[in-house]
Amino acid sequence: MPRLEGKVALITGGAGGIGSCTAKLFCQHGAKVLIADIQDEKGHLICRDLGPTSASFIHCDVTKELDVSNAIDGAVAKHGKLDIMFNNAGIIGPKIINILDNDAAEFENTMRVNVLGAFLGTKHAARVMVPAGRGCIINTASVCSVVGGICTHSYTSSKHAILGLTRNTAVELGKFGIRVNCVSPYVVPTPMSRKFLNLEDDDPIEDVYSNLKGVALKPQDVAEAVLYLGSDDSKYVSGNNLVIDGGITIVTPF
Ligand code: NAD
Repeated sequence: MPRLEGKVALITGGAGGIGSCTAKLFCQHGAKVLIADIQDEKGHLICRDLGPTSASFIHCDVTKELDVSNAIDGAVAKHGKLDIMFNNAGIIGPKIINILDNDAAEFENTMRVNVLGAFLGTKHAARVMVPAGRGCIINTASVCSVVGGICTHSYTSSKHAILGLTRNTAVELGKFGIRVNCVSPYVVPTPMSRKFLNLEDDDPIEDVYSNLKGVALKPQDVAEAVLYLGSDDSKYVSGNNLVIDGGITIVTPF
């Protein structure tokens, strides 16, 4: 059963691992998708594979308000509305650095893409969703939104901020019929995590911490969670953080 028939979705970071997988799943469920990313060539290729009637690409740097605003207006101009905004673009620094050696530029850059990007996406999606009286915003956080000590200072801070943004905007926008939620995956094999873990393209990512022995997290698992939050199956769910981690973050080590 298609779960997004007639819906229009914009996906930032749609040329990446989680974003492109979600774009594919959304199209399979009948949505029209606009992929917004800074990787133009990859974005166009993905859209060509998904088919021009289902998916299109727009260049968008989520740290630039005009780019984000144009992407939202582009979706509305092409399809007449915007139902789902997936603020998914994100970056991570090259490695974990002690606070004393952590330069401000790295921190600022990560916060700009991960937090400012989601803020601008939410702001401009709300601009068109509020008059429509409906809509759905989903942000990609991370297990780093709920635990510390496993990633860089900037990344962990940025993902905690995504949770705050999600909760705050869910309260404000709920009265306009707009739901806001976030997903928080554990390590997913994508270009981002491979680079961070210094792995080659086909190296497996060991799922060493999972409580679910033998079950490895894949981009498809995150996409399925986003599909749930973007569909009417979750029509009463807002302000939630859907943690996709095999139960890792509920374990207290004592
Ligand atoms: P990825 O690197 O494959 O995809 C990220 C995408 O974001 C890329 O296509 C990239 O071009 C795009 N992007 C980066 N900066 C941008 C900018 N300024 N404007 C527009 N697009 C930009 O990584 P991914 O794993 O698919 O990451 C997607 C999201 O999932 C991120 O928010 C990331 O923090 C989050 N996440 C990833 C993991 C993981 O283990 N891979 C775990 C938890 C959360």
